Amino acid sequence: MSGDSSNTSVASIGVSSSRRRGGVINGIPKRCWCGEEILPLMSKSDYNPYRRYFRCAYAARKKLENDNHFFKWIDEALINERVQMKVEKELFDKVDEVLAEAKGSMKKTMLSAVVGCVVLVGVMKVFLKSW
Ligand SMILES: [Zn+2]
Repeated sequence: MSGDSSNTSVASIGVSSSRRRGGVINGIPKRCWCGEEILPLMSKSDYNPYRRYFRCAYAARKKLENDNHFFKWIDEALINERVQMKVEKELFDKVDEVLAEAKGSMKKTMLSAVVGCVVLVGVMKVFLKSW
């Protein structure tokens, strides 16, 4: 499964990126385009000793190099997470704002809707982290 299949693989990367909406967590998809799981691994190379990365399970098993299976350094992935956390902080700031407003005008329905929303986000985050 290597060498002359570059056209096909470009096509399948295109397909998987159009499916990103559901399965991407912190920029890391759950599966490679080939259908194998993405594994968190540790580099043993001299260039990047002990640097952690995500890798397609198939490519890791076959010890593939310069292939087009999924690969991403974890520290680079964490940058995405930091951006995500910033967005979340802004979201919570906004919720505080709405809460303060709701308290003032006694809009209890709105208050419970907002609290429910925050709880939902929290539950989803825990759920997504435990994959
Ligand atoms: Zn793969």
